[in-house]
Amino acid sequence: MARFESAGADLRRRIPPVDQFLMQPEVRELTSRHGRELVRHHLRLLLEEARDRVSSGGGDSLAETLARLPERLSRRLEDVAAPHLRGVINATGVVIHTNLGRAPLSARAAARVAEMATTYTNLEYDLSEGERGEREAHVEPRLVALLDCEAALVVNNNAAAVLLAVNTLAEGREVVVSRGELVEIGGSFRIPEVLRKGGARLREVGTTNRTRLSDYRAAIGPETAAFLKVHPSNFRIVGFTESPTLEELAGLARETSLPLVEDLGSGLLARSEALPGEPAARASLRDGADLVTFSGDKLLGGPQAGLVAGRRSLVDAMRKNPLYRALRVDKLTLAALDVTLADHQAGRAAREVPVVRMLALSAADVRERAEALSDSLRTATPLQVEVIPGVSAVGGGASPTVELPTALIALTHPLAGPDRLAAALRAGEPPVVARVTDGRVTLDLRTVLPGQDSILGAAVQRAALDVSR
Ligand SMILES: *Cc1c(COP(=O)(O)O)cnc(C)c1O
Repeated sequence: MARFESAGADLRRRIPPVDQFLMQPEVRELTSRHGRELVRHHLRLLLEEARDRVSSGGGDSLAETLARLPERLSRRLEDVAAPHLRGVINATGVVIHTNLGRAPLSARAAARVAEMATTYTNLEYDLSEGERGEREAHVEPRLVALLDCEAALVVNNNAAAVLLAVNTLAEGREVVVSRGELVEIGGSFRIPEVLRKGGARLREVGTTNRTRLSDYRAAIGPETAAFLKVHPSNFRIVGFTESPTLEELAGLARETSLPLVEDLGSGLLARSEALPGEPAARASLRDGADLVTFSGDKLLGGPQAGLVAGRRSLVDAMRKNPLYRALRVDKLTLAALDVTLADHQAGRAAREVPVVRMLALSAADVRERAEALSDSLRTATPLQVEVIPGVSAVGGGASPTVELPTALIALTHPLAGPDRLAAALRAGEPPVVARVTDGRVTLDLRTVLPGQDSILGAAVQRAALDVSR
């Protein structure tokens, strides 16, 4: 123990102090580019790492480590100077991939965001009256028209929408929820916890697989504040199941003068043949929900946001809740949402909104692109390339059982396993996120943006080369 300590102390003495490094010409040059404090910070970290490495005895000598320090410092500083959030190519075939940032915006929506970002706007200013205006005024009329409802509100995400609804309608009182709908959506959004954080008490009714209207009725008492129906998103209970229809529950809500809130999650505006069974906001409101909440960046294909639509009195109460101030969106979100909703309104979403367009692609559409890209990969790389049938997923908790037929490019490297090839793809620029299925790397072009096919081809070529080395 004593010997170890003195060896460590000895080592520390032999490593020159940070300030001495800062005098070296190469390091001085770095301070002029990156700033003295940043250079000092990373220099200190690198010296600590060097000390650990040398004292653990594994690897280089102290002299070698110190000689290489300026170069490592330079590379480290380049790394930290580059933006950390980067664009990636999504070749997974999961259209709404939460880890990959969900919906990519349309070029027009993105351009609008950039335009509004760099200027003052009428965000909360009524230009005709010359006085304070409402930030909701920019998108509420579109939502009201699209969903045929009285009022609408936008907050940071759907979790915030549910929280705000619960807190506004039921703080200190009870919310009635079926036991079959006490779900966790992922990313720690759990219905019982959201209710608790919203200040409401959960009143569970029914069982996991069967809940009847009479269960809801029996739960009503002086403490009842609202009914909450939750779309179970990424899971399904099948077999011996029962639950009242939304109309039946809405009938009970009207009879008892209690509000019925539905958390739809995915944000399909109107029913779609491509996604059977996926509830749509417009239909829920027509069938009697007093409020619906859904995400802006799932099936709607817009920016991250939580949309609330329904009765004017309830929406107004949510807007007046002090919590709204903490959950509201900024002008950039509103700019993107405005353009995205306009595309839906004008019936051009399938052409303009990337998520909607990707979902509408047929397997034949994807196969045509896959064949073209495969041909070029066969000539340009040592990879074994095959186009095979497969399935894409909607993702984002929407329509978990819907399988979209697709065509996959399956890649085999003659020398390296699929995990190494997949890692090389992720390490490239741009990074490519692919799937590994049955021992092969597969690329699903459904989620690769138009115009990215050749970029993807070049990235695969580089990755194939990297693992050959
Ligand atoms: C996705 C989802 C949420 C969470 O929405 P965010 O926009 O991610 O906050 C909540 N409820 C349901 C049913 C969902 O599917």
